Amino acid sequence: MPIDPRAPYDDGNVFARILRGEIPCRKVYEDDFALAFHDIAPQAPVHVLVIPKGPYVSWDDFSAKAEAAEIAGFVRAVGTVARELGLVEPGYRMLANVGQHGHQEVPHLHVHLFGGRQFYAMVP
Ligand code: C5P
Repeated sequence: MPIDPRAPYDDGNVFARILRGEIPCRKVYEDDFALAFHDIAPQAPVHVLVIPKGPYVSWDDFSAKAEAAEIAGFVRAVGTVARELGLVEPGYRMLANVGQHGHQEVPHLHVHLFGGRQFYAMVP
C-alpha cells in the first residue's frame, strides 16, 4: 500500500530498523550520510536502494528539511554507489517514488538505482 505522505516519520518503518541494525540487509555502501543495500525484490540485475541516515519520509521531506550538508552528502553518496557498482558506463536509472501517486511503499526516503540491462522510455 502506498504511504500517506502527510504522516509524521514512523521510527518503526523497515528502513529505520535496517539503519538501527535490527533487520539485516545486503549492504553495498555506508558513510556518515547514507546506507545502500540490495533491494529484496530486484527489478533489474542490479537494484540497490540508497537511503539517508536521517529521519526523512520522502524526497519532499528531505529536500525541504535536511541540512545542506546532509543533502550534499546524500547526493554524493548516490553517485558514489553507482560508480562503485560499475554502473556509470553503460549507464543506469535512478528513481525516488514520492507519496501515494508515486506509489511509495516504505516511508523513509530511498533512491532506487537500477542497472545491468537496457532500460526503455518511462511509461507514465
Ligand atoms: O519506492 P517504494 O517505496 O515503492 O519501494 C520500496 C522498495 O523497498 C521495494 O523495491 C521493496 O522491494 C524494497 N524493500 C526492501 N527491503 C525490505 C522492504 C522493502 O528492499 N525489507
